[in-house]
Amino acid sequence: MQTNYTNCAFVKSAAALKDCPDGIKEVAFAGRSNAGKSSAINYLTNHKIAKISKTPGRTQLINFFTVAPGYHLVDLPGYGYAKVSRDTRNKWQQFIAQYLNQRQQLVGIIIVMDCRHPLQDIDCIMLDFCAEAGLLAHIILTKADKLSRNQQSATLHKLRKDLNNEWPFASVQLFSSTKKTGSKTLARVLDEWLFNQ
Ligand code: GDP
Repeated sequence: MQTNYTNCAFVKSAAALKDCPDGIKEVAFAGRSNAGKSSAINYLTNHKIAKISKTPGRTQLINFFTVAPGYHLVDLPGYGYAKVSRDTRNKWQQFIAQYLNQRQQLVGIIIVMDCRHPLQDIDCIMLDFCAEAGLLAHIILTKADKLSRNQQSATLHKLRKDLNNEWPFASVQLFSSTKKTGSKTLARVLDEWLFNQ
């Protein structure tokens, strides 16, 4: 049976590891700013739960949502928040690194990429990190509605080849929040990671 991710509810925002809620398992969503991460989470959960808090200079928090008692989806702020001070950015990067390294409940990362610009440097760093930390990785190629069918197939084909060479553990799918396609495949991956492994 597939989990109904529309039953998802906001739990809390955390600015430090000690503020993260207790739990059994969680999957985090990461991606470059503007890749379509908030839209993807909102479409999956059918809520406007992924608040779009992109105001420069504001403290960016990790947001936790529950899908079942003890099971969380986690919204990591987009990488590429250029307009904050270096000090804020360093602190923030430390917190994210700490979260990724130390969070026992974390089983995998959904890496959100714009299908027109997949595998940017920072995405590769995230995949390398997953490899080192033994985390699962699944890529959603958002804004698939911006490509023709042929372009979609070509993009998937090329990306699968690249992944196979360097990050063979990572899976990938097309996704469009605008056209509402891809949420079932994503839900299957989340179910597998959270409830079947
Ligand atoms: P985030 O910064 O990664 O959270 O990105 P957002 O979800 O805020 O989306 C960034 C921009 O891309 C917004 O203007 C969205 O409307 C647009 N967008 C997001 N997903 C899609 C999609 O599937 N198709 C199209 N055409 N635009 C999208």
